[in-house]
Amino acid sequence: MRYEYLHPRDELVLTMQRIYRYKMTTTSGGNLSILDENGDMWITPTGVDKGTLTPNDIVCVRADGRVEGLHQPSSEYPFHKAIYAVRRDLRAVVHAHPMALVAFSIAHKVPDTRLFHQAWRSNGTVAFAPYGTPGSEDLGNKIAQKYAEGFDSVILENHGVCCGGATLQDAFQKFETLEVCCKVLIKAHTIGEPKYLTDQQLQLQSKSDSPIESFEYDPTMMTIREKDLRNQLCKFVERGYRQGLLTTTTGTFSARIDSEKFLITPYPLDRHSVLPEELVMIRKGKKEFGKHPSRAVFSHQAIYDAQPTVGAVINACPINAMAFAVCHRTIDTYTIPESYVFVREVGLLPFETVFNDLATLTRALTPQSPATVLCNNGVMVAGESVLAAFDKLEVLEHSAEAVLDAQPIGGHVAMSQQIIDDLIETFHLGRPSSQPAVPRARRKPRSR
Ligand SMILES: [Zn+2]
Repeated sequence: MRYEYLHPRDELVLTMQRIYRYKMTTTSGGNLSILDENGDMWITPTGVDKGTLTPNDIVCVRADGRVEGLHQPSSEYPFHKAIYAVRRDLRAVVHAHPMALVAFSIAHKVPDTRLFHQAWRSNGTVAFAPYGTPGSEDLGNKIAQKYAEGFDSVILENHGVCCGGATLQDAFQKFETLEVCCKVLIKAHTIGEPKYLTDQQLQLQSKSDSPIESFEYDPTMMTIREKDLRNQLCKFVERGYRQGLLTTTTGTFSARIDSEKFLITPYPLDRHSVLPEELVMIRKGKKEFGKHPSRAVFSHQAIYDAQPTVGAVINACPINAMAFAVCHRTIDTYTIPESYVFVREVGLLPFETVFNDLATLTRALTPQSPATVLCNNGVMVAGESVLAAFDKLEVLEHSAEAVLDAQPIGGHVAMSQQIIDDLIETFHLGRPSSQPAVPRARRKPRSR
């Protein structure tokens, strides 16, 4: 969807619905605003159920202070106003009390967004504003002080978070990515010590926006297979977002059309909704003219070149799998038969692999070992079809969650090698050759 074409009333309602639906606010908490070019502020109302908000409920506070609308503006209007007063570059503010960010807020801690690239790129360094009474000028001043210092995202002591952006979608992406970052950090601490990206690694990611040659795409030549794959990819991207496997800013899907062509999601992309015509065709290493493929295009191309039976590839940063990725640990699939049968032994590759060592990537990600953890960069899975790859991603994320959830109750007890051998035989799995066997120690429970 092109949000820039929406009236602020509609954009505010759609964004609040999304925040509420994905459990990042309660019916009473949270408020959003947009400042238009006339200096009028469009803001969510006070005392209206966030689950049933409509465009008519949005309040407009004119530049001269007049209030227009059916309701009073949010009680937090003073701090929205204070932020816009000190930062001319910000035109939208998102404030809410999502659980993981509130955990940081009440622990008086700030998340380090160098945990993964998208968190750093969208939020940079996060500030912490001291406590103030909700709705007070004092709170507004304390928050505005942090914005005046140049921060875009601020944790509010014993309250929640506030993110500012050039557009509402920009502010929302910061907000959502920061909540994901906090969730990953909280989960990661149950299995180890999270590690952070260095300046050099962050630069490596930025440099991956390499140019790629174009070819003139002719839509009249589109085959039924291409149409089918375009529609399948869109449905699975949206499903992945709904299932919490993708976020607005993370996740790349691709599908092979034939030996010379594949389709890949564009950059940038809001994974909440994607249209078939937005996908980018890559043909013989060149992109469809006028479109920008995901920056993961080179690693996907390498896998298709090396593995002729792979039909789809996905990169994603789901929260539980990410907890392992930031602790530089692989995910044990010796947990339940489903995990081992679908995902097999999961690899663990250094952060740099997808940027400068594609040969190692293609040796690690094969039909016999279709999933790998990328340190501080999520997971990558391959399958013979879009559905098969999606299924592996889902099973991998569920396995990661189950292993994490087993920690407080004594850690998981891994299935024995005898059970694994039996599964390999029963399901005709074939032994993984390119990947080293899982170290013996990892198969033991952490504690009993
Ligand atoms: Zn609040």
